[in-house]
Amino acid sequence: MTRVPVRDDLRALEGYHSPQVDVRVRLNTNESPVEPPAAWRDAFAAEMSRVEWHRYPDRAATALRAGIAEVHGVAPEQVFAANGSNEVLQTILLTFAGPGRTVCTFEPTYQLHAHIARLTGVRVSETDRSPDFTLDLPAALAAIEREQPSVTFLCSPNNPTGLVEPPANVRAVLQAVTSLPTPGLLVVDEAYAQFAGWSALELLDEDTPVVVSRTFSKTWSMAGTRLGYVIGPRWFVSELDKVILPYHLDAAKQIAGRLALRFVGEMEERVQMIVAERERIVRALDALPVDQVPSGANFVLFRPRGVPGRKVWQGLLDRSVLVRDCSSWPRLDDCLRVTVGTPDENDAFLAALQEVLP
Ligand code: PMP
Repeated sequence: MTRVPVRDDLRALEGYHSPQVDVRVRLNTNESPVEPPAAWRDAFAAEMSRVEWHRYPDRAATALRAGIAEVHGVAPEQVFAANGSNEVLQTILLTFAGPGRTVCTFEPTYQLHAHIARLTGVRVSETDRSPDFTLDLPAALAAIEREQPSVTFLCSPNNPTGLVEPPANVRAVLQAVTSLPTPGLLVVDEAYAQFAGWSALELLDEDTPVVVSRTFSKTWSMAGTRLGYVIGPRWFVSELDKVILPYHLDAAKQIAGRLALRFVGEMEERVQMIVAERERIVRALDALPVDQVPSGANFVLFRPRGVPGRKVWQGLLDRSVLVRDCSSWPRLDDCLRVTVGTPDENDAFLAALQEVLP
């Protein structure tokens, strides 16, 4: 068999895996446990029947960008949307990182930051967080000064820990990247921001190199749509527009996203329900032999005491409850991450956990 060698710098790279197993209660990928409103589905179906399918979609996704801009009180020229926030992050890295440059991450954090960065050929500098998973600010600032990164990632609330980054930390990191001889970009990944109290959106400014990415996959109940966006200065967005492939957002996705924005109230209700359920899970975990990380997201990271994480994960799976097994990930020994589900799903998780723990 003839095989063609991959790029030298990709040879050692592992793919990104998130196994999907057929179970009754699926709490492993931080999706919304409930579907979007029926009225959204109806409006979407009605508009889909009017699409001119023989034509390319609106290349600039004008109406979608305008709608997102309105929700956030910014200009449409400050919004860039793509196929999930993963594609947003990839486009940022293709545009501002790449071979010969460096990206800084603070680990553990969302694995795709470093992974997508490596796919774009950029050097990745990973700095450890403190043992309690909070940002080690002196170490972070030292890394930025040493590495002179073109792009630095923060994630708030952070995945997989759930920790919200204190505003003072974000400001300090922003100050550090802004002061570099060649300023770098700070990307704040806010995939879970609506579940938390604070957003870095308030730091946005035309003259400041900070951008905020968001997704429709979580709070909007639309992971099936694959739609995400970033808000930043106009100069930043216009550079991304040069790099992204033409017509990358298909007509269906533009309609889906634009119509979702009509249901902000329903989205906020869902978020409230999930936050209330998260707090219920947190209280229940408090009474069990586990250590948990304070969460501002729609998931909770916990570490069973006195029993291997992998064993607990398997015990839950045997009871048809699937959570994310982080127990073998670097820096996350024995940790499991549970996504907040519906009240029934959370009951099933807690009952199964109680049975499995010693
Ligand atoms: N950022 C973070 C922190 C995430 O957890 C995820 C989803 N797991 C994403 C980005 C990607 O989301 P999307 O579905 O928009 O690509």
